[in-house]
Amino acid sequence: MSGILDRPVTGFVADTISFSNVDGPGNRFVVFLQGCNFDCVACHNPQTIPGHRPLEGHDPHHLGIDELLVRIRRATPFIRGITASGGEATQQPIFLRALFAAVKSDPALAHLTCLVDSNGATDLAVWDDLAPVMDGAMIDLKCFDPDIHREMTGQPNHQVLASIVRLHQLGLLYEVRMLLLSGVNDAPDLLRRTAEWLAAIDPEMRVKLIGFRAHGARPHDPPLVEPTADAIAWAADLMRGVAPFDICVV
Ligand code: SF4
Repeated sequence: MSGILDRPVTGFVADTISFSNVDGPGNRFVVFLQGCNFDCVACHNPQTIPGHRPLEGHDPHHLGIDELLVRIRRATPFIRGITASGGEATQQPIFLRALFAAVKSDPALAHLTCLVDSNGATDLAVWDDLAPVMDGAMIDLKCFDPDIHREMTGQPNHQVLASIVRLHQLGLLYEVRMLLLSGVNDAPDLLRRTAEWLAAIDPEMRVKLIGFRAHGARPHDPPLVEPTADAIAWAADLMRGVAPFDICVV
């Protein structure tokens, strides 16, 4: 008897990249899933935000697991793993789990690590469900302050913070990423409070500080300001003064 559960799982995919060295450790195959539950002022992929609306010049499409596996197999000799990004990958949790499970159960692909690059705004049950087939998650912490977070993303940050805690408990928090926007989320007191909160979870946590770059982001009035290299290095030093984080600056 056939039913809805027999239908092949498909993902709504914005794009795939066979080789990326900026989406996790090593060279990685990246699946960018279409649709995001945030609307960040500093988003560099705003075309991936709408969930199901065709956009001019942008062609998100439904892809089956099998078709994705074909693409991944072609890249396998040159990659260390796959990363699901977006948009927001956890908005398609059934597809995400099915994709990772398929990779893990394929003898030719099982050695690949499966990571998620996420804004963290998802139910904790999603992480629990992914845990058996996922090797880790990189979580964007846009801002520790809830009001500034809402200004930056249009959404609260309680799920993001809870995701960081749960992923650490699961041993699956690969990295916390912080995009620094001059004059918005880089105040010393805010950075210190953020560092203290992160240090209470893991004082040696891997943290990536990323300076906002205007290129690719939507225009704003007044314009969003890029932090200088010195400002990012200063923020890293401030955080290192709180705890011996493993900080990488981009
Ligand atoms: S979470 Fe990422 S993809 Fe979603 S709006 Fe923000 S920057 Fe863009």
